[in-house]
Amino acid sequence: MGSITNVVYLLASILFILGLKKLSSPKTARMGNTYSLVGMLLAIVITLLDQGILDYTYIIAGMIIGAAIGGIAAKKVEMTNMPQLVALFNGFGGVASTFVAYAEYSNQISQAGIIGSTDIVVSMILSLLIGTVTLTGSLIAFAKLQGIMRGAPIVFKGQTVFNGLLIVSIIVLGVLFAMDSTFQDYLIAIVVISAILGITSVIPIGGADMPVVISLLNSYSGLAACATGFVLSNNVLIIAGALVGASGLILTNIMCVAMNRSLANVLFGAVGVESGTAAEGSVEKKSVTRYTGVDAAMIFDNAESVIIVPGYGLAVAQAQHVLEELATLLEERGVKVRYAIHPVAGRMPGHMNVLLAEANVSYEKLVEMDVINDDFAETDVALVIGANDVINPAARYKKNSPLYGMPILDCDKSQRVMIVKRSLSTGFAGEDNELFYDDKTMMLFGDAKSMVTEMVKAVKEL
Ligand code: NDP
Repeated sequence: MGSITNVVYLLASILFILGLKKLSSPKTARMGNTYSLVGMLLAIVITLLDQGILDYTYIIAGMIIGAAIGGIAAKKVEMTNMPQLVALFNGFGGVASTFVAYAEYSNQISQAGIIGSTDIVVSMILSLLIGTVTLTGSLIAFAKLQGIMRGAPIVFKGQTVFNGLLIVSIIVLGVLFAMDSTFQDYLIAIVVISAILGITSVIPIGGADMPVVISLLNSYSGLAACATGFVLSNNVLIIAGALVGASGLILTNIMCVAMNRSLANVLFGAVGVESGTAAEGSVEKKSVTRYTGVDAAMIFDNAESVIIVPGYGLAVAQAQHVLEELATLLEERGVKVRYAIHPVAGRMPGHMNVLLAEANVSYEKLVEMDVINDDFAETDVALVIGANDVINPAARYKKNSPLYGMPILDCDKSQRVMIVKRSLSTGFAGEDNELFYDDKTMMLFGDAKSMVTEMVKAVKEL
């Protein structure tokens, strides 16, 4: 049975790797999910068969309850609330590792009276530490994104030193536990301190840095699973955990590069902590003129090129289908239309790609920020739909802004900027946007779906 199990584990691991590879393109992403799903199914089934389980009652009950909760949550969640759901899933992954590692500790102690191998002891400590940090850190991230607690960074004096002390005490307790593994209070203390560390290391992060934290916690949940794989000597868990850990780290790095920040700056910089006071009143609030769909259509009538900048508001309004209709109408009139995709637009990595794919916008028309930024200067109209932070010029120069340093879409360089949103209010980072008051900007106030529908009607009547 052992060698069959390992062959199936190998097959499952290959499916995970192929699945990840296919996730790198929207065209093959669904297939990638199916590969990984089959891999996971194989891994679970062979593990259960390999363990000589006498009674499946609790296992089946657990699987049914878990699958029902996960299935309903994933089905019901609004696309805009996806990061919160991912945060919760990361947290549950982390706590699962903690539980399994603790169960294996109890198992080995009741059988042998001691944990014989130092490797297992170290893996157990890592599993409990990372798993618990992931749980409490993810719960804080969830609460911030859901608006249950303040989204801005929460800092206190000596926070970094305090966190350092927590880490030192975990190391000391780990060494004590390695010397006497029968004393389970050490493990409990490690779990409690790790829980505090998870909270204190995520509260100082906020605003526009949340996407980075989510992908970092995702990586942690993989590392916790990987450590648990060593505790159980289970190859597929080690491989799957390492894959999640590595891919989460790669995504974290991509997000940091997109925001032009180092990971250390995201984790310890508490960027935006003063934004509540610093941002307010910093933009000279001239009056703005309210434009209509008919005004927009008249501008489109003379335009040769339009770059659409989608943002979070497009997702809220679910205006992607009508936006695609507008783009097609403009193309029929000979206008060159493309979509500019900012890496952190919306509320999850790839949010705009997924949204526009729903409306069957072809991938070739979606152009990454680095590629399209030079083209704005030669573009007649930048049509911004529900985006705010990703076009905020404060990111270029305002040092105390939570957005400072993040590359933005240079739509202010185009001949005209049309911004569709409901009010003059700020975006996710809470920073006022001077572009709303620029002479070349036309503010089209309203829900994105209604306003774009109005534009479609007006363009049809041209
Ligand atoms: P923003 O959150 O900056 O702005 C969105 C704008 O959409 C708001 O100002 C809002 O203005 C408008 N809006 C909301 N609802 C509607 C609607 N129904 N119709 C029209 N407009 C609407 O979005 P961006 O996409 O520009 O930037 C994303 C931000 O989110 C960044 O700061 C990023 O760091 C952060 N983030 C990104 C994540 C990711 O992974 N992509 C994850 C978590 C956070 P108004 O209320 O006036 O309508």
